[in-house]
Amino acid sequence: MKITKVNVKPILLPLKVPFKIALGEDVEYEGVVVEIETDNGLTGIGEISPSHRITGETVGASISIMQTDIIPQIMDENPLFIEKLMDKVNARIIFNPSVKCAVDIALHDILGKYLGMPLKTILGGFRESITTSITIGIKSIPETIEEGKSFVTNGAKVIKVKIGLTPEEDIEKIRLLREELGYKIAIRIDANQGYEPRTAVKVLRQLEKYEIEFVEQPVAYWDIKGLKFVKNNTDIPVMADESIHSIYDAINLIHEEACDLFNIKLMKAGGIKAGAKIAAIAESAGIPCMIGCMVETKIGIAAATHLALATKNIKYADLDGHLMLRKDVVEGGVFTENGENKVTEKSGLGVTMIENN
Ligand SMILES: [Mg+2]
Repeated sequence: MKITKVNVKPILLPLKVPFKIALGEDVEYEGVVVEIETDNGLTGIGEISPSHRITGETVGASISIMQTDIIPQIMDENPLFIEKLMDKVNARIIFNPSVKCAVDIALHDILGKYLGMPLKTILGGFRESITTSITIGIKSIPETIEEGKSFVTNGAKVIKVKIGLTPEEDIEKIRLLREELGYKIAIRIDANQGYEPRTAVKVLRQLEKYEIEFVEQPVAYWDIKGLKFVKNNTDIPVMADESIHSIYDAINLIHEEACDLFNIKLMKAGGIKAGAKIAAIAESAGIPCMIGCMVETKIGIAAATHLALATKNIKYADLDGHLMLRKDVVEGGVFTENGENKVTEKSGLGVTMIENN
């Protein structure tokens, strides 16, 4: 079997509502669908979700790199040699993880279709579903409470709240949300680098009594000392997100003892294989992982869910990016029901392109 063609299609999808975090606000999702075709009629589907604020990637640059640098590395190669092809891609381009991610996901989709099995089974099989948080962007306190209540009514068991711009309001927001939702619903928070280390500690100490599951990325991504300072000065477990992209970041954070948890995202890591490697490194250090996402279609979310269902050390999921889209470019693959993500039993990712999208 060999790769004969790669299609690269930009997509622009409106969000249901604007999504604001400490790093900025988005009203639509700009991504890229990548289809890898083989000489025996299989097509693997992948996705680039370029995040200029987190990985420094854009749609235009991603398409250009895919066409000029990455496609030549994989053309005419056997798509089942995933590790070899990703090694070639990594040797050609140092960064651009979400471009690599699209290639890795599409190759895995081909593998699944070739073997006639869902990816979760091929990757190892550990659980049938995983609870996902549903995210509330930065909004006013009344809007946050309203949205939290409606998510819970619709089955959410875990609410993730974006904070990081207004320390006093953040504390009041979480206090009122906890009061409104009670203690059966888990609440996790994400500051997206919004606080200085001392402010983070001040805020988190006041939030400890509200049973926060964990806090994501309280300080700037580059401030590993600051992250460690926060971890050592609050009882709320601290999760690295923007500070961990690659396996190399994982080992550095472990050496520095800078955090309690990792947030793996396929778009930061460079795909399923790279994400699985981070989870394994973390497991050896006693660091549980969450698998998160950017705003993504069901292509990326299905890939991440398959990996989560096959990996013991991925204990948490924040895989709700597809739920923010007004419409998707694929159907099938993954579905979210009562706050749980599950995948179908179809081969590979299980997603199918919706024609005329
Ligand atoms: Mg985060």
